[in-house]
Amino acid sequence: MNIYPYFILLVFFALALYFIFRKRKTSPSILTVEDKKMLLANVDFYAALDTDKRKTFEDKLAHFLGKINIEGIGTEITPLDRILVGASAVIPILGFDDWEYRNLGTVLLYPGTFNKDFQFAEGERNIMGMVGDGYMNGQMILSQSALRHGFGKSAGRENTGIHEFVHLLDKSDGATDGVPQNFMKHGYTIPWVKMMHQEIQKIEDNQSDINPYAITNEAEFFAVASEYFFENPERMKDRHPALYDGLSKIFGQKLA
Ligand SMILES: [Zn+2]
Repeated sequence: MNIYPYFILLVFFALALYFIFRKRKTSPSILTVEDKKMLLANVDFYAALDTDKRKTFEDKLAHFLGKINIEGIGTEITPLDRILVGASAVIPILGFDDWEYRNLGTVLLYPGTFNKDFQFAEGERNIMGMVGDGYMNGQMILSQSALRHGFGKSAGRENTGIHEFVHLLDKSDGATDGVPQNFMKHGYTIPWVKMMHQEIQKIEDNQSDINPYAITNEAEFFAVASEYFFENPERMKDRHPALYDGLSKIFGQKLA
């Protein structure tokens, strides 16, 4: 039997599938002078870095923007939105040499908050960001207004973009559980979990300035505490020295 025609057919079929399902690749990104100005004016974390670290930040940001699709759903996204999404991604990984978000292809920006079914126009509108699971795997959804607010001057210790990317780091070991195994030294898991539980107890006893949303579960605690760590490291070091130290080790960054 001549299998050659079948082979050709198979190759065509494979090629067709490839072209139908391939991810739209964006070209490698280079930050423009305008981009850097936007960073400086809108991202305090970047502005506080020394020249060397700024360069590292810019390289990681360009790499991220070249790799990840950022789309607006029901909203126009601006160049600043792209920079803010990228900054949210880079801030938690600045201390890691080669790490990248392999579990992410697309970030969708919704105009306001949205509910669990991603209906942003009606129903309960209370979610500011989420990392997709199941059929939404590889996607992150962010509220455009929450993203912008997080980098605004009045955001305090909250930053939705950073929060969601920390969930993604947490998820990279297969479990979104507040224990980012890939970034922890052997033997640190137990002390870390113990400290999370102590800090959660303090929030429950009204003895903490950490956002009470953190008591939802360990994953939320880790994401909320990380927002605080990156947004106001001095204050965290002062009020929660052990937690500051733990996060500093996990992220490989000394910020205060
Ligand atoms: Zn969360």
